[in-house]
Amino acid sequence: MDKSKRMAELVEMLNEYAYQYYTLDNPTVADVEYDRLYDELVELEKQLGYALDNSPTKRVGDVTLKGFNTVRHLGRLYSLDKCQSKESLSAWLNKLIKFCGYMPKCSLEYKFDGLTINLLYNEGKLQRAATRGNGIDGEEVTEQVKTIKCVPLSIDYKGAVEVQGEGIMRLSALEKYNSQEGVTPLKNARNAVAGAIRNLDPKVTASRKLEVICYNVNYIEKDFEKGSDMIDFLSRNKFKISDKFDIYGDKESLIDDVDRIANKRDSLDFLIDGAVIKVDDTSIREQLGYTEKFPKWAVAYKFPAQETTTTLKDVIWQVSRTGKLNPLALLEPVDLAGVTVSKATLSNISEIKRKDIKIGSRVFIRRSNDVIPEILGIAEHTANSKDVEKPTVCPACGAPVIEEGVFLKCSNAKNCAPAIVSAMSHFASREAMDIDGLSEKTLETLYNEGKLNHFVDIYKLKPEDFDGIEGFAEKKVSNLLSAIEKSKNTTLDRLIFALGIPNIGKKASKQLSDEFKTLDGVMNATYDDLISLEDFGDIMANGFVQYWADEKHRADIEDLIASGIKIQEKSIKQGSLTGKKVVLTGSLPTLKRSQAKKLIEDNGGEVSESISKTVNLVVAGEDAGSKLAKAQKLGIEIIDEATLMSLISSAN
Ligand code: NAD
Repeated sequence: MDKSKRMAELVEMLNEYAYQYYTLDNPTVADVEYDRLYDELVELEKQLGYALDNSPTKRVGDVTLKGFNTVRHLGRLYSLDKCQSKESLSAWLNKLIKFCGYMPKCSLEYKFDGLTINLLYNEGKLQRAATRGNGIDGEEVTEQVKTIKCVPLSIDYKGAVEVQGEGIMRLSALEKYNSQEGVTPLKNARNAVAGAIRNLDPKVTASRKLEVICYNVNYIEKDFEKGSDMIDFLSRNKFKISDKFDIYGDKESLIDDVDRIANKRDSLDFLIDGAVIKVDDTSIREQLGYTEKFPKWAVAYKFPAQETTTTLKDVIWQVSRTGKLNPLALLEPVDLAGVTVSKATLSNISEIKRKDIKIGSRVFIRRSNDVIPEILGIAEHTANSKDVEKPTVCPACGAPVIEEGVFLKCSNAKNCAPAIVSAMSHFASREAMDIDGLSEKTLETLYNEGKLNHFVDIYKLKPEDFDGIEGFAEKKVSNLLSAIEKSKNTTLDRLIFALGIPNIGKKASKQLSDEFKTLDGVMNATYDDLISLEDFGDIMANGFVQYWADEKHRADIEDLIASGIKIQEKSIKQGSLTGKKVVLTGSLPTLKRSQAKKLIEDNGGEVSESISKTVNLVVAGEDAGSKLAKAQKLGIEIIDEATLMSLISSAN
C-alpha cells in the first residue's frame, strides 16, 4: 500500500482506539497492539518527513467527556517518551551523557499503570482534581477524587500548587471487588480506575477503594533544585508517594535496577507497566526542555506486555480430582511476552456469564507469573459469537452433571477416570506423600492398564505389574518402587493433605495435625472441636465430619496402615514448657517470631498457629489482633515476652 495512504489509515485507526481507550474507558485492542501500530506510524512519519495534523504522535490523551466540566491545568501535563529494550535505554542515557558531558543523577521510579490525576491546592485546600485530558484541558473530577482516602483535603503549603499522581486500584482490591455477588467484573485494574474516576457518581469512585500515588509537582510558585526535593515536598505535605524512588549516578547500576523492578513486577499488588527514569537536577531539565508530547529529560522503560487480545475458539470442560468440571479456554495462538499462548483459565460458568464470554469473540488475556493465563474480559463480539453451553453430561464418563453452587460436577466422580487419576496424582504430589517420579502421566498409564484404581493401590504395586508396559524399564520401575516405599514414612499433616478431603488444604492439614496430634484424634474430631479452630468455618467443619462418617474413608486409612504407612512422632524435649501448647501473636519487643518459636520448642513447648480450647498459653506482643481477643474469650492465660523469659529461666 502507498505509504501516505497507510499513514492516513493508521491515524484514523489509532484515533478511534484512543477514543475508545481514553474517552470511553473501553479499549477494544490491547496496549501492545495499539503500541505496535503507533510505532509503525512514527516510522512512516519519519520516512515521509511530515505528520498529519490529527496524528496521535502530536497529542497527549484525547478529548474530554461531555457531562464533565472542562478545566485548564495551570501547568501542562505531558506523556512520556518510551523505550522498550535495554539497548534503547542505554542509547537514551548516552545521549543524555553527551548533552551534559557527564552522567547526571537520575531518579528511577515505578511507572504506574493507572489514570493521571492532577490535584490543585490553593491556600492549603484541595480546590479541584482533574484528569489529564489532552494535557492542556482536563475533566474536573473533584467530587470523585475527594472520596479517595489518601488524597489530602488540606495541606500545610499555602500557595497555589498542582500535584500530579496516578490513580490506581490495588490488585487485591480488584479481586475483592470482582468476587462480589452481582457486580459486573472489571476488565483490569487500569480500566477499573478510569471507570471509577470518570464516572458522574462519586459513590462509584468510593466503592472501588482507589489510591492516588503522587510523583510530580506540576505547578508551583517556587523552585525546586531537584526532582527529589519535589518528592520530599510531597511527602511533607502528606501525599501518598511511591516506596520506589532511587537516585543513580551511574548507568550500569541504574539499568541493573530496572531489571530488578522487571523481575519483581508480578509480586506487586498494583499494576506497573514499566519504570520511569528522570533527570534529577531541575536546571538540566530546563535546558533539555520538551517536545510537543513529552519532556526530553525523562523516559519510560516499558516492560513486555502481559496483556493482549485473541479469539476464543472453544471452551472445554476438564474433570478435577473432586469431580468438578473446570472450564478451559482454547485460544487462537498468540504471542505474549515471547511465549505462544493457546489456553487460558476461566473459573466457572457463572464467571463466563458475568464476563459475557462467548465463543468466537475477541477476548483480553493476561499472563502473570502463572503458567496459564487468564481471560480478563471481552474485547469485541463478532457476528459468529455464540454462548458457552453448560455441559449436561460429564465429558469424560458421560454421567449426568450436577450443580453445586457456582460449580458443575460429574455425578459419578468416584468412577470417573480423570477424577480418579488426579486424586491419585494429588496424593503422590510433593507436598502430600511426596512420591518422586509418580507423575500424573504415569498414574494415567497405570490406571489405563488396570493396575491402579485408587490411591491405596499405589502401595500394592509390585515389579511385575509393570511388565509389558511401554516406557517402564527395570531401573525406572525400581526407582519408582523405592520412592513409594520411602513415602511410607510420613507426617500426619502430609497424610491428611494427601487424602484430598474437600476444602482441607495444606494449612488446614497442619492445623488439624497440630491440634489433634494423632490420626485417631483427627478422624474422630467433632464439629464443635473443629469449629473452634481458627479459619475453620461451617462448611469446612461439616465437610470434614461427613468425610469420616463414610466407612469407605475409614477403610482406606486401615488399608494404608496395613500397607506400612507410618506417621513420624514428633520428639518432644523436656523443659519448663513440656506439655504446653503456646500461641504467639503480635510483634514481641526483642525476639523475632522464629527465635521465640525455637525457644519455646527447646523448652519442651509446642507452638501452635491457631487459638483453640487446647492452647495453654498465649504470648502477646504489640498489635496483637483477633488471636488475642479469641484467647481472652476462651479464658486462656496471656503473658508477655518478659514473663515467657522468666518462665524459661526460672526452670533452667
Ligand atoms: P504512557 O501511559 O505510556 O506514559 C505517560 C503516563 O505515565 C503519564 O501521563 C503518567 O500518568 C504515567 N506515569 C505513571 N507513573 C509515572 C511516574 N512515576 N512518573 C511520571 N509519569 C508516570 O503514556 P500515555 O500517553 O498516557 O498513554 C499512551 C499509552 O496508552 C500507549 O502506549 C498505549 O499503551 C495506551 N493506549 C492504549 C490504547 C488501546 O486502545 N489499548 C489506546 C490509546 C493508548
